[in-house]
Amino acid sequence: MTEQTKEKDKIHRFLFDKPNIRGEISTLNDVWQHMQANHNYPEIIRRYLGEVVAASVLLSATLKFEGSLTIQASGDGALTLMVVECRNDFGVRGVAKYQQTAIDEVPEAVDVNTLLGQGTLVITIEQAKTQERYQGVVALEGNSIAEFLEGYLARSEQLETRIFLASDEQAAGGLLLQQLPGQHEDDDSWDRITHLGSTIKAEELLGLSAREILHRLYHEEDVRLFEPESIYFKCSCSRKKVTNMLRSISHQEASDIIKEQGNISVDCEFCGKTYQFDAIDIGGIYSENVQPSDLSTRH
Ligand SMILES: [Zn+2]
Repeated sequence: MTEQTKEKDKIHRFLFDKPNIRGEISTLNDVWQHMQANHNYPEIIRRYLGEVVAASVLLSATLKFEGSLTIQASGDGALTLMVVECRNDFGVRGVAKYQQTAIDEVPEAVDVNTLLGQGTLVITIEQAKTQERYQGVVALEGNSIAEFLEGYLARSEQLETRIFLASDEQAAGGLLLQQLPGQHEDDDSWDRITHLGSTIKAEELLGLSAREILHRLYHEEDVRLFEPESIYFKCSCSRKKVTNMLRSISHQEASDIIKEQGNISVDCEFCGKTYQFDAIDIGGIYSENVQPSDLSTRH
């Protein structure tokens, strides 16, 4: 094999020809590193956020319309929130929030369930055109991001799914296996294929190409690997959205901040972009005559 070139920021779909099982492999490199820039995440936070990022790409591959899928895990533990959004064209963004003092006290190998504490996993699917939203909420059950998601998928999709995730500073990667309807009852392919899948090591998921991973796991099976698609960083923040958010504070509060600081500055948590509003902007936001669309095009 002459598979020396590592594929960066790609998602691959594959299909087992005989048993009705489909799969995906996601690999994020530059996109994942970009997401960590300016955040300085503690290692343990980075690890789990990377897993959610890799998973969000795997789950988004089933979107059949223009839109996005958001995975949000939140709890009352040291890690308070992870939210990752991935669009149907694999534009992805994500952020984690945590309590630094609480993180300093957790042991090095703490599992994600302990880190999040009591909480929920929310999956939101939004269709861009109609703005229709589907939202599923489940308790955090299991000891890993993969188990949280497998539990969610078993309930919502009624499809048996196995997910394997890994992440480090350089890369994030995931493998998904899903049993499609129409399996013979006496067919043990699902057990065999998921068992082989479970032998994948983190360094293989992060370091090997999709073809190498499939060869390593399934060289005795008949697997069809499709052309990959690219993953890229995409933040959906805009001046218009920030303006709408500013409306949630009172005009008085906004004016007080302007008086004190000269302007209101809002940083996007996902991409770090800064949106500045001066006294005239704020006057416009709270004046009834100004439409939100006017505000977004003034600058
Ligand atoms: Zn942004």
